Amino acid sequence: MREVTGDKISRRQVLRAGGILAGAALLGRRQLFATEEGIVPTMVNAAAKAKINVQPLRRNISVLEGSGGNIAVLTGRDGKLLVDAGFSVSRPAISDALGSINADPIKHLINTHWHTDHTDGNAWLHSAGAAITAHENTRKRLSVDTRVEGWSYTFPAAPSEALPVTVFATECELHRNDTRIVLKYYAPAHTDSDISVYFTDADVVHVGDTWWNGVYPFIDYSTGGSIDGSIAAAEANLAMFTDKTIALPGHGPVGGKAELTEFRDMLVAIRTNVAALKKQGRSLDETIAAKPTAAYDAKWGQFLTTPAAFTGLVYAGI
Ligand SMILES: [Zn+2]
Repeated sequence: MREVTGDKISRRQVLRAGGILAGAALLGRRQLFATEEGIVPTMVNAAAKAKINVQPLRRNISVLEGSGGNIAVLTGRDGKLLVDAGFSVSRPAISDALGSINADPIKHLINTHWHTDHTDGNAWLHSAGAAITAHENTRKRLSVDTRVEGWSYTFPAAPSEALPVTVFATECELHRNDTRIVLKYYAPAHTDSDISVYFTDADVVHVGDTWWNGVYPFIDYSTGGSIDGSIAAAEANLAMFTDKTIALPGHGPVGGKAELTEFRDMLVAIRTNVAALKKQGRSLDETIAAKPTAAYDAKWGQFLTTPAAFTGLVYAGI
């Protein structure tokens, strides 16, 4: 297990529910999960019990792990700037973690994309003092009821205080705490709202869910994601990273160019395998049965997206 949850039972529940649900949604209307509570409530429950791990990265930048996606924190005289918000149930634990870094007030929040495990904490962070910045599609998706088929879940429109106030289309540059921060939109990749957040002076970047370090990614076709978009985003990240870049994936441990290269290579290899099977006319069930991910499952198949579910996510896009 790569992520910090602090609770082994809830972690197992996440793994089970996530794999079954993602698989069920892809495989059609089968009753694979009638007794499961569902991946979104399970993720929330896991976050509620999680300890938040604080890891200093470089200069005045740290990462908080344990509530949904990884959270970057930049500190300084302009107040704290967070990249991603975790789940709102983690407010006490995240508040304690932020306080353990220093007493700087919370002043700014950037969302890497619209998904709930990165934005559910928006409302409380805004009430605590954060002005929210994101891609325009993050605001668009959060503003209305939004269905994610892969999670079998419809998210209600977020309250106005949770919505990003500053949005952009392609690129945006901020200066906080004597640090230049470049926000850049990918083309649709994991969703249609993904951005990178690059602290250029420190050479630290948060790439959101365009990168899952060491685990199969979820790809949200319901809001614009695709396997080819995901591969293109991995290539864009490789072009952006230096040999010294410290990169925060959306999920999994902090890493760099070597780990990202492995991720890109895995995506490309499995896409190639699945495409060959689909071209032969094999159904999704037949493609899953042929195990096109087999060489990668031991390393990558241990988190939310199971080998079968990931095969389905790739199959859907080619
Ligand atoms: Zn996501």
